Amino acid sequence: MQLDLAGDLHVLFRDIVDIRSESLHEKELADAIDAALRQFDHLTVTRIGNSVVAATHLNRDSRVLVAGHLDTVPVADNLPSHIETRCDGDYLVGRGSCDMKGGVAVGLHLAATLAAPSRDVTWVFYEAEEIAAQHNGLLRLRSHDPRLLECDLAILMEPTNAIIEGGCQGTMRFTLTTEGQAAHSARSWAGHNAIHDLLPILRILSDWQVSGDHLVEVDGLTYREGLNATMVQGGLAGNVVPPEATVQINYRFAPDKTAQQAEQLMRAMFAGWRMDVLDLSSPARPGLDQPLAQSFARSVATMPMPKYGWTDVARFFEMGRPALNFGPGDAMYAHKADECCKLSSLDDCARALASWLDGSRDEGES
Ligand SMILES: [Zn+2]
Repeated sequence: MQLDLAGDLHVLFRDIVDIRSESLHEKELADAIDAALRQFDHLTVTRIGNSVVAATHLNRDSRVLVAGHLDTVPVADNLPSHIETRCDGDYLVGRGSCDMKGGVAVGLHLAATLAAPSRDVTWVFYEAEEIAAQHNGLLRLRSHDPRLLECDLAILMEPTNAIIEGGCQGTMRFTLTTEGQAAHSARSWAGHNAIHDLLPILRILSDWQVSGDHLVEVDGLTYREGLNATMVQGGLAGNVVPPEATVQINYRFAPDKTAQQAEQLMRAMFAGWRMDVLDLSSPARPGLDQPLAQSFARSVATMPMPKYGWTDVARFFEMGRPALNFGPGDAMYAHKADECCKLSSLDDCARALASWLDGSRDEGES
């Protein structure tokens, strides 16, 4: 399919949603985007795997990177897309419409139409965000040539309803295991019940819930932490005293602490239990103390909010680059079967981003 990047944004959006691109199957979409971007002389296009990078080289004094992932979670009988008219406007409904082809459509359209922005721009359309990090297109681009991701500010176009969401919270998943001794439940005093031993752990968790809102302020944004048991396992049979029990816990922590500090905190809170860490992802500070990010925030003119979920902004943060989330669509619809994105949200994002990238540099910026 030939994509018309400079034409109607809503048509482009529908076209790229209708090209299926589940993780690891992004080739058809990447081919179409690659071919379409190469028609524009103001862009230098690089293709690595199924990720496409298009950059301007205008010798501006700052460079902004705008990124969106091409992959979606599996299609669930929700393609091709269709338009639905609701009381508050028209929506495109279909897999990938929310997470995150609305952002990709805005990025492609602006890459084509902003031939001489007042800031250099690197447009990144990358593969495999929804699956294990080993496949992640951003990481592949970085290991191939880190200069491809050089920038003074990164904007990730994940759905935020066209408001700026700064940074992201970190996440740690771990299990705690208790050990008992099996016995026939008819003579239970001969054993020791490992499930009952979960009780003090659950009490710590429920006490934590009622002890406060766990609000943490970082760079002017207020994050709210979460500490929850998410799964419990244990028991062998209905007439056996369980010899082992495991509770899985998820700690969502604010970006005032590093991943290592979060782990230390959990190890101190649950000292004495066997802990196995399943995964630990670093948070990202919002970076709104940086002049370029401040200039963008002033231009968007809505109050920046904290990002609760984990996103690839953390990967930019690891590279020492400030990064924000800003994109069309409501993240509440991400990954749902009735995934959708309001069309006017694309227009809002495109307008805000275009006027900032194209506008004259504002004075607060250095
Ligand atoms: Zn996403």
